[in-house]
Amino acid sequence: MMRPPRLWTTETAETTMTEAAARAHPDETGGIMVGVLTNGHPWVIVAVEISTPERGRTHYRIPADATRTAVLRVRERDDRLGYLGDWHSHPRNVGPSSIDLASLARISFTSPRVPNPTQIVVRRTGDGYDLDARRIVTYRPRTCRIELTGPLPPAPPTDAASSNYRLRPPTSEGAS
Ligand SMILES: [Zn+2]
Repeated sequence: MMRPPRLWTTETAETTMTEAAARAHPDETGGIMVGVLTNGHPWVIVAVEISTPERGRTHYRIPADATRTAVLRVRERDDRLGYLGDWHSHPRNVGPSSIDLASLARISFTSPRVPNPTQIVVRRTGDGYDLDARRIVTYRPRTCRIELTGPLPPAPPTDAASSNYRLRPPTSEGAS
């Protein structure tokens, strides 16, 4: 069996998502994830909650243009960061719906980025929240293994433009 793709996530980003999910309960909430690529692997640095009138107990939809605006706002603070995917909460302990997976496939195949975007569903469990992450790999949505990290180190003083792809991963490649 294929090893699950990894998804590094800062504790800050995880906390942003789980606290927003708890505040919105029993409605859904959501937003976007912003970060960097390290050796082709996404590393979520910041999660942004995006408010919308289009949400309820079983749906959440990001307003048109809100993603771009939110990414630009985060990049004002650190221009190494870019869009990595969407997240939203489920008030019950269920994974992505068929609609969620269809929207992940649509954004992966109709506006391909490198790597494909990740979708996180923040599932309410008995005693908190679990992050359920998926990314299209070889044309199928695969569950991703979440690995928590510390914050992104400060930007190096020079050559910021290409630094995304030279950052070292936060944990060793051999970890399992
Ligand atoms: Zn959903």
